[in-house]
Amino acid sequence: MGFKFVKSEINTVFSELKNGYRLFAPKIFEGTGHFSDTDVILYGEISNVDEIVFDKKSQFSFKEIIFPVSETIFYFTEKDIKNADEEKKKTIVFLRSCDLHSLKRLDAMYLANGPEDFYYKRLRDKVEFVLIGCKESFENCFCVDMNTNKSENYSFSIDKRNDEYYVDCKDDKWDNLFKSNSNQEMDVEPDYVIENVVRVNIPENLSIEVSKSTMWNEYNTRCIDCGRCNFVCPTCTCFTMQDIFYTDNGKAGERRRVWASCMVDGFTDVAGGGSYRQKNGQRMRFKVLHKVLDYKQRNGYHMCTGCGRCDDVCPEYISFSNTINKLEMAMKEVSENGK
Ligand code: SF4
Ligand code: SF4
Repeated sequence: MGFKFVKSEINTVFSELKNGYRLFAPKIFEGTGHFSDTDVILYGEISNVDEIVFDKKSQFSFKEIIFPVSETIFYFTEKDIKNADEEKKKTIVFLRSCDLHSLKRLDAMYLANGPEDFYYKRLRDKVEFVLIGCKESFENCFCVDMNTNKSENYSFSIDKRNDEYYVDCKDDKWDNLFKSNSNQEMDVEPDYVIENVVRVNIPENLSIEVSKSTMWNEYNTRCIDCGRCNFVCPTCTCFTMQDIFYTDNGKAGERRRVWASCMVDGFTDVAGGGSYRQKNGQRMRFKVLHKVLDYKQRNGYHMCTGCGRCDDVCPEYISFSNTINKLEMAMKEVSENGK
């Protein structure tokens, strides 16, 4: 069922939603961008529809709502452990189609890859997802080739067209709320892009043999192992543990899990002094093949959703989509060398 709203009507809906939910959406954080006096678009709590950024891509994804950058998971003393209190209020997250597909990847990793992750699940169970339609492709997006440009599994959708808001509701529980505030019921299809400027081709014959290619050497010097590509990626799920000991009682403290990056020093350090993938090209090889080869071999679909954020953020202008497009030549190289 679909609805059309003017701004005052949709904001009445938002006011009512806020009674039961925290609302998170991409919004502008003024003056906190990379350069002085520049803004950044991140996920934050919102109160009304004006705060949602509809016409630009967010630099970070929704991921931190269900997988926080740093999360205290429990507190400990000499004898006892207490789980950190959980967020009681339910949450609604506004996100785009590629990110809704990323959610499937996060769920696969945290809920279906062995035992369910307790801390992820208790946050995840309280969240509902609202699709923001995409009128046009943003810079560096390649969602069409990754098959993530369209989504169906949203609670409701929202599209801003001129000064009106269009909602497609898939969950009956919202019907009365929308009906009582809308000036018009109508069929609504969320906007979605059908082509991107950036195209990628993942070769059909891609195999682990590509790891022998010389293509990875370029990144030994180009990549500065800053890890920004991992931190903006909505499908990266690695974390590390930090135990914080309180200074007044050195035996009490808390354990936090904190995002980790396969591109930075120390990620592959192991007990006994071992350290693997020390060259940045090896790290790039591992990241790329995880996103477009081995994850698919296990799950049947690629991990990368084509959001293009890693391209947007790399200080060395290393393009993930260009790297994918080099794989075909790299496969040729290794198969010719193997003859
Ligand atoms: S690898 Fe890059 S393009 Fe793919 S999902 Fe992650 S950030 Fe987006
Ligand atoms: S953002 Fe760029 S330079 Fe930084 S680790 Fe990723 S690929 Fe390397």
